[in-house]
Amino acid sequence: MRNRVGVLVSAGLVRIEEYDMPKPRDGEVLIRVRATGICSGDIYAFKGLPVWFTLPAPFGHEPVGDIVEVGPNVTALKPGDRIMAIGSPAYADYLVAKASSVAKIPNNIPYEYAIGEPLAAIVNVVRVTQPRLGDYVAVIGSGYMGLLLIQALRGMGFSELAAFDIIDDRLKLAKEFGATAIINPSVDDVDKAIKELTDGNGFNVVFEVSGNPSGVDLATRIIGKRGRLSIVSYHSLPVQVNFRIWDAKGIDLVMAVPARSGDEYATIDLKIAARLLERGVFNQEKLITHKWRLNELQEALEYASKKPREYIKGVIIP
Ligand SMILES: [Zn+2]
Repeated sequence: MRNRVGVLVSAGLVRIEEYDMPKPRDGEVLIRVRATGICSGDIYAFKGLPVWFTLPAPFGHEPVGDIVEVGPNVTALKPGDRIMAIGSPAYADYLVAKASSVAKIPNNIPYEYAIGEPLAAIVNVVRVTQPRLGDYVAVIGSGYMGLLLIQALRGMGFSELAAFDIIDDRLKLAKEFGATAIINPSVDDVDKAIKELTDGNGFNVVFEVSGNPSGVDLATRIIGKRGRLSIVSYHSLPVQVNFRIWDAKGIDLVMAVPARSGDEYATIDLKIAARLLERGVFNQEKLITHKWRLNELQEALEYASKKPREYIKGVIIP
């Protein structure tokens, strides 16, 4: 049997190649992929921006599927288990992953709504940022990751949980997912909003989830004295920041990214993500807006690269 794998040949060009079936070795499992999330990192790479892998590369790292075979010394998983995983290359029919980077998913959740790697990222974000009860919290960027973060933060007992975005439909979702206030900085008066929401003190915790330098500027503006700025987004290009304001406010900076949690990202955060998905803390039904087949990967990335308003998150169904 052959395995189709999506390869990013060069910026703007995907090719579907056929390889021999991979074989799970010690501590590994073979996964039949049922859905793979299209990560914004993959879109950056497709657009020719610098990312963490070099081209050409088989890619995709957000697989969901079924275990078909386990390698030696794998006891916690068996063929037939429905799972989310962190592993690559996941734009494929099959992939091999470390058993330690796999978490079981509930039977009642469709594969495409059980994409796990971004959920693990959000679990990591909250656990390393450690917002406190009663904090005034802001989330800048209500795209896929920002909205997942709102879901995770809902009910944590904040004085405010404010969502910022320039697309009103996304702010509507943020509200539905638990934001206490929504602000569109392209039309709303941001200073007035800070005054009303935080008594002019600024936010104690600001999550930067826009991936845009203007989001870092906005964070710098709305954060309060000794506030904690949590960088969630992947910033592909160098970002200029105003250290004078960071200095005056005495802020605390947290890089809330996967590298921060190292191996725990897959071994602990992914398991927590699966549990929170089961409990309904995370719900991706309204976030997965587009689906394509593996042979449409080129079109999918072309479409997603254009950042259409109605696009929040796409998945590839092999
Ligand atoms: Zn990802």
